[in-house]
Amino acid sequence: MPAKILDGTKIANDIRLEVAAEVRALTAAGIRPGLAVVLVGHNPASEIYVRGKVKATQEVGLFSEQHTPPESATTGDILNLIEDLNRRSGIDGILVQLPLPSQVDSKRVLMAVDPAKDVDGFHPVNVGLLSTQRPGLVPCTPAGVMEILKRSDISIAGKDAVVVGRSDIVGKPVAMLLLNANATVTVCHSKTHDLPGVCRRADVLIAAIGRAGMITGEFVKPGATVIDVGMNKVTDPAIFQRLFGGRLYKNAKREEIFRAKGSTLVGDVHPEVAEVAGALTPVPGGVGPLTIAMLMYNTVKAAKMRRGQWSAASGQ
Ligand code: NAP
Repeated sequence: MPAKILDGTKIANDIRLEVAAEVRALTAAGIRPGLAVVLVGHNPASEIYVRGKVKATQEVGLFSEQHTPPESATTGDILNLIEDLNRRSGIDGILVQLPLPSQVDSKRVLMAVDPAKDVDGFHPVNVGLLSTQRPGLVPCTPAGVMEILKRSDISIAGKDAVVVGRSDIVGKPVAMLLLNANATVTVCHSKTHDLPGVCRRADVLIAAIGRAGMITGEFVKPGATVIDVGMNKVTDPAIFQRLFGGRLYKNAKREEIFRAKGSTLVGDVHPEVAEVAGALTPVPGGVGPLTIAMLMYNTVKAAKMRRGQWSAASGQ
């Protein structure tokens, strides 16, 4: 039986509606949570991401502002801006869009963000809070993965979870969240021996690699839940053919888009996995939409935490 497709777009919309209701209640009580986005220079991809984030903040009713220092900005310029945002009480979340221009010291900039306003959850203080199971700000994409599992009634406690990828922004935090939720967690990477064999032990398999369709059916235990975090732009017709050329996986709509645009967005999981897994997130429409929804969620969480209005019972 083909896998159940987990609809990330619907889950993200539900979260946005919940966040919008919280924002209305907080605003009525005199607290309008605010997010500041810092976009340095002109990176076309970053500009698209930031537009999406700013639009989402407006839709859920958050106060939002954008800072756009020029491409020539120095580390000192950005640090001064961050200090100013750290000081302002109306700003609850600060998001520095990466990458920064090469002359700017990204690590120093990210370290300068007040951990209480670090809605990306990248600051070492938040990493430490997550690993010691204390309330803090959790990175958006990993938090989104957990929301998909929770809201799809996929139980985690006692299950074998395998995470492929060990980056600071996805693999490690998702592994920590799964461990905190009482899964038995294995983290794999490019040096892992017998990757298909290790993955086949997973009841819950998370692919966060950045390689189009690498996780094929032989990596997956029948009936497992597979969460595809990968976002890969495919432009090579041979790769497109490898992924969607099989009779079972032909996808007329995708073929049409590929022909018209010359590219398509695919995950790390091969379409054939739908024949083996019990549940699967699609790309697009799986984990992707959760990332912005969890950014909105984190901004409200930061606003409440900063005012002592957050309790562990409120959520992750
Ligand atoms: P990353 O920093 O490049 O990390 C990739 C990880 O995959 C590394 O740990 C690497 O191992 C591992 N890896 C690479 N090739 C491998 C192989 N052949 N076998 C086993 N492991 C391998 O990437 P990332 O930032 O975590 O992102 C991963 C994917 O998620 C990308 O496609 C990215 O676009 C996507 N993403 C999506 C969202 C979203 O909103 N949906 C958000 C963030 C990222 P080593 O550590 O040994 O090098």
